[in-house]
Amino acid sequence: MSIRLSQFLALAALVSMAAALAAQQPAKAKPEDTEVWQPVPKIVTPGATDAAPPSDAIVLFDGKNQDEWVSAQDHSPAKWVVSNGILTVSKAPGVGNIETRRKFRNYQLHVEWRVPENITGSGQARGNSGVFLASTGPGDDGYELQVLDSYNNTTYVNGQAASIYKQSAPLVNPDRKPGEWQTYDIVWTAPTFNADDSLKTPACVTVFFNGVLVQNHFELKGQTLYIGQPFYKKYESAPIKLQAHGDKSEPLSFRNIWVRELN
Ligand code: MG
Repeated sequence: MSIRLSQFLALAALVSMAAALAAQQPAKAKPEDTEVWQPVPKIVTPGATDAAPPSDAIVLFDGKNQDEWVSAQDHSPAKWVVSNGILTVSKAPGVGNIETRRKFRNYQLHVEWRVPENITGSGQARGNSGVFLASTGPGDDGYELQVLDSYNNTTYVNGQAASIYKQSAPLVNPDRKPGEWQTYDIVWTAPTFNADDSLKTPACVTVFFNGVLVQNHFELKGQTLYIGQPFYKKYESAPIKLQAHGDKSEPLSFRNIWVRELN
């Protein structure tokens, strides 16, 4: 009986697949071949709750003072309002955004925020603030994870709460109503650049909003611009910035802010 060409080719493919599998698994493979024992991960003591800072975190705000923060404009001491363990945006003239004294590259960040129960306004003018994941200096737009009241408040979806502003809408909307505390848990991977300052690898961000995944390793297209197309500008490390948005709605508050460097 003669073998048809198609049958011959199928047989040849099977033989070559078997050979490839044999090459991947040496005849004398042992369980120990795939065990890794070093380096041993450093021991970190978790916080009392998942929202509390673990032992290797840098606490940026613990309810007592804003010593870790400065004015983003002139680096003078931050002048927002600390009261009853919370940090509230000041919209007083000349105060503006605040940013961390320290600079960060790659990190895990925990932030809690609350829109006041009596919030007014609509769209982008209702509880607007922002967590700028890298504040690359006055004159730059930076990289903003939006803070906004998005509970029954319509706006462009790539500008609602937990959007990467004008680049990526959140996967879902787990926003709580005004007056309730909300959490962001963020993993930020900074962009890298070539020697000629061109982009080597983009920034990536993963965000959990109230424990729900809303940004899944999103690759940013560049800085989050209010007007125009995003672009990258070289930086090595940068402060984290909180926004005092210029709208007229009641200022929102922050608490329990901590960061873990991942360098
Ligand atoms: Mg904002």
